Amino acid sequence: MPPDSVVAALDIGGTKIAGALVDDSGRILVRSQDPTPAREDGETVMRAVGGVLAELAASPLWSQVTGVGIAAAGPVDVSVGTVSPVNIPGWRGFPLVERVRAAVGGMPAVLIGDGVAMAAGEHWLGAARGRDNALCMVVSTGVGGGLVLGGRVHLGPTGNAGHIGHISVELDGDPCPCGSRGCVEGIAGGPGIARRALEHGWTSGPDGDTSAAAVAGAARAGHPVARASFERAARALAAGIAATAALVEIEIAVVGGGVAGAGDVLFTPLRRTLRDYATLAFVRDIEVVPALMGADAGLLGAAAAAFTWPD
Ligand SMILES: [Zn+2]
Repeated sequence: MPPDSVVAALDIGGTKIAGALVDDSGRILVRSQDPTPAREDGETVMRAVGGVLAELAASPLWSQVTGVGIAAAGPVDVSVGTVSPVNIPGWRGFPLVERVRAAVGGMPAVLIGDGVAMAAGEHWLGAARGRDNALCMVVSTGVGGGLVLGGRVHLGPTGNAGHIGHISVELDGDPCPCGSRGCVEGIAGGPGIARRALEHGWTSGPDGDTSAAAVAGAARAGHPVARASFERAARALAAGIAATAALVEIEIAVVGGGVAGAGDVLFTPLRRTLRDYATLAFVRDIEVVPALMGADAGLLGAAAAAFTWPD
């Protein structure tokens, strides 16, 4: 049976540009993907986006496409349709919405940040489905997120609301590349977990792997320093979640991304330490659950945006 309504979705990050045609039940019908030429100039990156769109446009389903949703690494400014991704230096104030619209013959195009897209995807089809007040976060190299408030994805004026990775949980902590100190991302992001483990005497196995995933493996095997590094990351996340809950009353925190792939090594101390920070009656019962959408959360969130917020 042919789908009633189809949108194109793009998820543009520092390593890959993913594209898909998605129907209104969230089925991915066609996929396309290319590496991001992140070190090249802005026009070269845009040509790669055009290539992904052209592959989608080659599908017979393209004639049913009603709009394009774009999830991009941030910062974004959805009020003017521009992006300035930290990992794509060739794009600073780049007019992505206008350029994508031109590439698809003037069809409506809508932009959201990747953290908000993940929240939109999890709210539509994943772990935050049916929940009216949720914080959804991606914990990987960076830490990002988005909010669902009052049953709707909350963008904020420029589309960056919910950026939990850059709230400070350690007032005198290490300087963060964002300019602040003691941000959640510096402690709970993959590089922060690995660095802390190495500084405190953990060493990699014979394969030389010093990633957060390797630290997770060691923690699972009982290595005390590796466990302590995940405990510290969990505390940073717990403090950030508790602060968010106190501010806007969320009922659930959905945690995805590569670091969350550590499973119980992260989630067990996260749920335990959350009790140390989320103490008031109205925040005490927050659920913490793993994300369900995996790598497709951004694409599906972009599709949700195209279905929900047409121009
Ligand atoms: Zn920061």
